[in-house]
Amino acid sequence: MHITNYEKNELNEKDIVVLGVPFDRNSSYKRGAALAPAQIREALFCESSNLWTENRTDLGEMSGWHVIPDLVLSDEQNAFERIEKETDNFLKKKLRIITLGGDHSITLPVIRAYAREYPKLNILHLDAHPDLYDELGGNRYSHACPFARIMEENLAERLVQAGIRTMTGHQYEQAQRFGVEVIEMGNIGDAKKLSFDGPVYISLDMDCLDPAFAPGVSHHEPGGMSTRDVLEIVQNLKGNIVGADIVEFNPERDINGMTGMVAGKLLKELIAKIMGSTSQTNEALNAFQ
Ligand code: MN
Ligand code: MN
Repeated sequence: MHITNYEKNELNEKDIVVLGVPFDRNSSYKRGAALAPAQIREALFCESSNLWTENRTDLGEMSGWHVIPDLVLSDEQNAFERIEKETDNFLKKKLRIITLGGDHSITLPVIRAYAREYPKLNILHLDAHPDLYDELGGNRYSHACPFARIMEENLAERLVQAGIRTMTGHQYEQAQRFGVEVIEMGNIGDAKKLSFDGPVYISLDMDCLDPAFAPGVSHHEPGGMSTRDVLEIVQNLKGNIVGADIVEFNPERDINGMTGMVAGKLLKELIAKIMGSTSQTNEALNAFQ
């Protein structure tokens, strides 16, 4: 169901594609995020739950979304070019893409493609970390750097970061220099009433969650969001969401598959949010009542 060995011409405008990008070469601490896409898909379709979302949309009965095979990255040297080109190909067909990482470095090539399609792109970035380092360990494309590159390349009209709780002096200077709007974890309520003019892209680093909710990440950073916090941020968001990613889930660090289930649930709610409230939603509501 919905796992499509698709032909690109079978996809209709505005459809959502869920694309796995199994790439973790730019992780600074532990590899393993490349294993995430398969686990998230398994969780999404796991029979322990169902495909109804919290706004009572039965995704199992809805067309318009496609879980497609992973991007095959045989040569890791040109992975960014491949990711950008693949994203470009889907955007040219007016599709909306949810990319499953992978480490957070993959967001840069995805956003390079998005910014061409949407020159006024807003980004909502949920993370424990600002990922604004100029470089880390000599790597300017580290998973700790994507938002520095995105801002240097002028790819975002507005960047709002939420859940941040590891801001360093250097990254604070970077945030000031780039005009990043930072909602630190202590003020997370502010992230539940966000509104954007124009297109919005959501980049969801799984370590925005407290490790009690999502232990399957490389960088445990206590004091983070609950699963409900993330759901409220996504569900309350006002704006036209044109794409998203879920990154940094590391199955090798997971316990009993629990982070995989959280990622699967967030994917389900993101699909529903991006689809928006359609007539089918209303039908589903009526059927329920
Ligand atoms: Mn990150
Ligand atoms: Mn992070």
